[in-house]
Amino acid sequence: MSTSPNDDTPRIRRANAIASQFCYTDDDIRRCSTEFLRELRLGLQQKRPSMCQIPTYLTRAATGHEKGLAIGVDLGGTNLRVCSVELHGDSTSTVLQSQARVPPELMVAKTSRELFSYIAKQIRDFLLDCHPSSIKAAQDDSSHSFFALGFAFSFPVYQSGFDIPDAVGQDVCKSLQGEIDLLCLPVKITALVNDAAGTIMSRAYALPPAHTRPSIGAIFGTGTNGVYLQNLSEITKPLDGDYDKTTGSMFINTEWGSFDNHLSVLPITPYDVELNEHSVNPQNQMFEKRVSGMFLGELLRLAILDLDSDESAKWFRASGVGCGFDSSTPLHRRWAVDSSILSVAELDNSESLLTLRNKIHLSLGIRKEYISEEDARAVKIIARAIGTRAARLAGMAIGSVIIQSQGFDQTSNGEVVEETTVDVAVDGSVVEHYPGFEQHMRGSLRALEKIGGERECRINIGHAKDGSGVGAGVIALLAAQQKATVLS
Ligand code: ADP
Ligand code: MG
Repeated sequence: MSTSPNDDTPRIRRANAIASQFCYTDDDIRRCSTEFLRELRLGLQQKRPSMCQIPTYLTRAATGHEKGLAIGVDLGGTNLRVCSVELHGDSTSTVLQSQARVPPELMVAKTSRELFSYIAKQIRDFLLDCHPSSIKAAQDDSSHSFFALGFAFSFPVYQSGFDIPDAVGQDVCKSLQGEIDLLCLPVKITALVNDAAGTIMSRAYALPPAHTRPSIGAIFGTGTNGVYLQNLSEITKPLDGDYDKTTGSMFINTEWGSFDNHLSVLPITPYDVELNEHSVNPQNQMFEKRVSGMFLGELLRLAILDLDSDESAKWFRASGVGCGFDSSTPLHRRWAVDSSILSVAELDNSESLLTLRNKIHLSLGIRKEYISEEDARAVKIIARAIGTRAARLAGMAIGSVIIQSQGFDQTSNGEVVEETTVDVAVDGSVVEHYPGFEQHMRGSLRALEKIGGERECRINIGHAKDGSGVGAGVIALLAAQQKATVLS
């Protein structure tokens, strides 16, 4: 942001003071990562530590040679995506996709039945649109072949207040399959997939054969989560079920949203405290509450309200009289502010900040004539602080799982040799749209001693757009083919 002579006013000083509370230094990042690694290892030993470390039973990334047609369904915290993925066996694919915003009342519905019935109907509409002959064939002949379906389920567990234990997976598939069968759709769920794992698989399939496969997948959307490739020898808790042991490793779903729920290293501002107190799951998902899209807009809202708590420097009163808002505006309603305003604030570098002022009008509900350039400047200062802290924490998490997964050390003929690159697949609207998210993440990667500046340059971070749904399809296909091999 360019500095202007107007920057040194009492009001802008107040904004800077609020912003400075979000500062998270390189030392903080290092301390945080030490604790992150401790919790990762704990999760490999016990069944219920704060990061669950759930085995995915996926032991290798896709190669690009896979072939077949499958359906992927991705239920995020905000969007439902249904797609069909046809893999041609040469890293290319044909993807058809539909997307819908999940009606919010379904996310908090008393019974999950309404939600699953809604999803089944979306699958039916998608098939009618994109694969109409399959429905007809299924109606004419009940022994008609089925689509394998992978269900990427990142249901915001924090909204319904339950914690997904491993066993819930079974119920989720059963419930959705039940609704699918009621509609007589030619679809069989063959895999329940975590969205970060899906992101890895979709990027892995699409990369050229000679490229390093992704060993890390991370989501920064409504929520945040990460999956990484873990050496089997360090997993001391029991792994039930069958899996291919020949690779010596398995992708593990960290559930890192709940990292440091006891707040031993995470930053704490008064806004974090208030957000947590008014959330549906106080003391849970504490990492996520500082990083993901569901919370960043609310943090900004709370911090902006605090700007106004200073009697001598009232905000949003450009005309000098009256006040640009009343108590019914989104600025005064909890959870009413979407985190996309942070991206707009970061993007608008104009002198007048007109785009941002318009966004403030639209998303905070303040009348345009009351929003001065100085008001917008203050919002920009605070938004940047919140966004930067989120991205630095995100980078800390990615760096920590890279260290845990020993991404740079590859064993070849019994010798440990340094791998040239590590590949990270990311997806989600926050990492996709917030300007500079990756650069801030890289700042954290450089701060970590076991990574540093030299290795940081050798970490690829690739965006797998809508990767969760496509990846769910890829995994469904692999699962169906594996089953077929077992049966024959
Ligand atoms: P899902 O989590 O359902 O898979 P997304 O990855 O699209 O969906 O993430 C949606 C979240 O991203 C919402 O919390 C929303 O507030 C946030 N978001 C959407 N657009 C932006 C943007 N331009 N900048 C920052 N956050 C955004
Ligand atoms: Mg998603």
